[in-house]
Amino acid sequence: MKALLLRSPAPLSVRPAPLEWSELPLPEPGPGQVRLLVAACAICHTDLHIVEGELAPPALPLVPGHQIVGTVDAVGRGVRTPREGDRVGVAWLAWADGVCAYCREGRENLCERARFTGFDVPGGYGEATVADARYVYGLPSRYPAHEAAPLLCAGIIGYRSLRLAGVRPGDRVGLFGFGASAHLAIQVARHWGCEVYVFTRSDAHRSLARALGAAWAGGVADAPPEKVDCGVVFAPSGRVVVAALGHLRRGGSLAVNAIYLDRIPEFPYAGLYWERTVRSVANATRRDAEEFLALAAELSLRVSTSVIQPEDANAALSALKRGEIDGAAVVRFSSAS
Ligand SMILES: [Zn+2]
Ligand SMILES: [Zn+2]
Repeated sequence: MKALLLRSPAPLSVRPAPLEWSELPLPEPGPGQVRLLVAACAICHTDLHIVEGELAPPALPLVPGHQIVGTVDAVGRGVRTPREGDRVGVAWLAWADGVCAYCREGRENLCERARFTGFDVPGGYGEATVADARYVYGLPSRYPAHEAAPLLCAGIIGYRSLRLAGVRPGDRVGLFGFGASAHLAIQVARHWGCEVYVFTRSDAHRSLARALGAAWAGGVADAPPEKVDCGVVFAPSGRVVVAALGHLRRGGSLAVNAIYLDRIPEFPYAGLYWERTVRSVANATRRDAEEFLALAAELSLRVSTSVIQPEDANAALSALKRGEIDGAAVVRFSSAS
């Protein structure tokens, strides 16, 4: 099989084509695992941090990619579900130990022994991959593969971010940055009856935000009509975190959906006072995935995608870095339909 292999991470300015379309042996599913023929794998901001060396995987070379849609074509010993022929999705959480204090209280996303797809274990930027059968998900049939793929991280983690920001039905919600994750989160927030303000630099992203129901769209330095009750920062920028606090009402909360962020600049305590809260969002649980995918089945989300071939993945990473992707970039693999 062929896969996009990362051998040596480096900034894209130094190494503009870090992913090599390489021949690899077809993986065999071990006990408890399934093998998928990959139909599509969406590109996440986390992948950009990995190829640029800001997040260091434990071993190289690596096949990244953790928003995988494929068809099960082989099952390992002891696997009852899914079955051969099932269409399933694989997300960022590849495995957790199930026995630590975090896992036992339903916070497997914080497990200190957790493994992540396309980071600790090979991911989905290839024609086939294997996954632990307990960490794959059935997918709503209404979405073709290229639309289902971005649901698996952008969608799930965006959903967790809304929850962790304390979003309640009818709240006024600020979304700071408007990429793959925010364009799905806004649709969930609108479904909950929230009024949504979107803060983003890009005119194209502002247009998409308005089309998806934003009541206001502007820049982070602009003044929206009101302060927001809660918000999610999607832009991996500490400066945006500080600016977002300035748009938050007293007692409001802000969730930062970023796996990597260089630093949050110093700011006056008055920006946090009046019981404002800032918290990070780290990974997601299987429960988040199941809840969000059930919602996606019900809602008919509009999923904005740019579908590319594996050979164009490096160019897509650069475009993502420049903020030039509307919605999600998705790599399509020819091994499946
Ligand atoms: Zn991701
Ligand atoms: Zn654990």
